[in-house]
Amino acid sequence: MRPFWLEQALAQENIEPCTALQGETRAQVCIVGGGYTGLWSAIMLKEQSPELDVVLIEADICGAGASGRNGGCALSWSAKYFTLERLFGVEEAVRLVKASEQSIYAIGAFCEKYAVDADYRLDGTLYTATNQAQVGSTDGVIAALERQSINSFSKLPVDEVQRRAGSAQHMEGWFSPAAASVQPGKLVRGLRRVALQLGVKIYENTPMTGLEEGTPAVIRTPAGSIRADRVVLAMNAWMARAFPQFERSVAIVSSDMLITEPRPDLLQEIGLTSGVTVLDSRIFVHYYHNTPDGRIMLGKGGNTFAYGGRMLPVFDQPSPYAGLLSKSLEQFFPAFAGVGVEATWNGPSDRSVTGLPFFGQMSSHGNVFYGFGYSGSGVGPCHMGGQILASLVQGLANDWTRSPLVNGPLGYFPPEPIRYLGSLMVRNAIRRKERAEDHGHRPRHLDVRLARFAAAAGKADKG
Ligand SMILES: Cc1cc2nc3c(=O)[nH]c(=O)nc-3n(C[C@H](O)[C@H](O)[C@H](O)COP(=O)(O)OP(=O)(O)OC[C@H]3O[C@@H](n4cnc5c(N)ncnc54)[C@H](O)[C@@H]3O)c2cc1C
Repeated sequence: MRPFWLEQALAQENIEPCTALQGETRAQVCIVGGGYTGLWSAIMLKEQSPELDVVLIEADICGAGASGRNGGCALSWSAKYFTLERLFGVEEAVRLVKASEQSIYAIGAFCEKYAVDADYRLDGTLYTATNQAQVGSTDGVIAALERQSINSFSKLPVDEVQRRAGSAQHMEGWFSPAAASVQPGKLVRGLRRVALQLGVKIYENTPMTGLEEGTPAVIRTPAGSIRADRVVLAMNAWMARAFPQFERSVAIVSSDMLITEPRPDLLQEIGLTSGVTVLDSRIFVHYYHNTPDGRIMLGKGGNTFAYGGRMLPVFDQPSPYAGLLSKSLEQFFPAFAGVGVEATWNGPSDRSVTGLPFFGQMSSHGNVFYGFGYSGSGVGPCHMGGQILASLVQGLANDWTRSPLVNGPLGYFPPEPIRYLGSLMVRNAIRRKERAEDHGHRPRHLDVRLARFAAAAGKADKG
């Protein structure tokens, strides 16, 4: 099954997949993975060095991974400020928050420049509270952003929050204009089109089956091979299984979502008329926005955990949490209670220990680069990932190649079965804690303590 967004994007394009690689080929740069990270890297390389000969291989079709099925909330790293400051210091944290906002605008400029119709709407984001326990939980980070003169959020009166968010569930809300919503499938397919247009050679249905280090490195595929001077591994959640050194660097966890049938009349009625993205302040956050054709898309993170970083069949099936999502939809929007659900789906997020992606070089020959671990927050940040990887590949000395983001994983989860059992224990504690808070009860002390293990990574991660 293809997720709704990708299905919709493919229906509009009506083009054949790129052919699979047959035989041997040679390239200066080979990129493995056709999601946002791989495609942004390819595009930036070609924009900066048009003469570079860049090949990209994708196991399925471009956009089949997280990039074609996410929530489409393009957010900055403002809410991660404390984590950034703790890990990298004030100066780099400030730079990264600013750069993450620039990426939101750059995605819009890219869509305009190349006529990519990705339903990009720069209508901002609302970080809200949907129960009393969440009220005030955003204040600290806003104050820290304010101290560094990088705060784009302002607090709105509650009735204004409810009006803009189309729901009386919200008890407070901070609005930032530095955020956008997109149709993620159309964005990734648009990136693919532009990459081809710029001269990137793409092979779809071409999984990398082996990587032999060397100069050049050799990438094996079922029916051929690529000898490449430099390699970029942009395989997201698949990295953990493909390379043992990364097995414990991420936990694979689903985010689940539903989309309703189009009801523009009801959206008018409830007031959810802009492309604003709305996120509550749970650890496993609710996130939603409307679509230009009058639907509501609602998602929730932190549901299915994968033992040993495996890609589970359920990630390519309708969401097993459809009932829960429908209940949340009705709670947020009673007017949508009788509205049909057009589709539900889910997908794997690569949650790192820090909640931040990490990048690096992994070959003794100095020519194999990688980047993943976006932790359910990659729509905007993958644009930064593209800049980082394009800079590393070209051996540039700039803010990106000097950034501590390129120092590889900054933490590891415990080995299995502890990681899996621990994840379930924390997830269930969070569920009990948030259920208690929703009912105005005090959560159990132990649940609050266990929930802190996940909360450390920061707000607004959708995995
Ligand atoms: C359900 C869900 C909801 C999300 N919601 C949001 C959101 O609202 N906002 C937000 O900012 N982020 C969100 N995210 C996160 C965001 O989608 C990701 O961080 C981002 O798409 C990662 O892009 P990527 O290119 O690194 O990975 P992917 O898009 O997963 O691309 C990796 C590609 O590598 C390919 N591949 C794997 N192995 C091989 C191989 N051996 N050979 C060749 N190719 C291979 C895969 O097929 C895949 O296409 C969500 C994620 C999920 C799963």
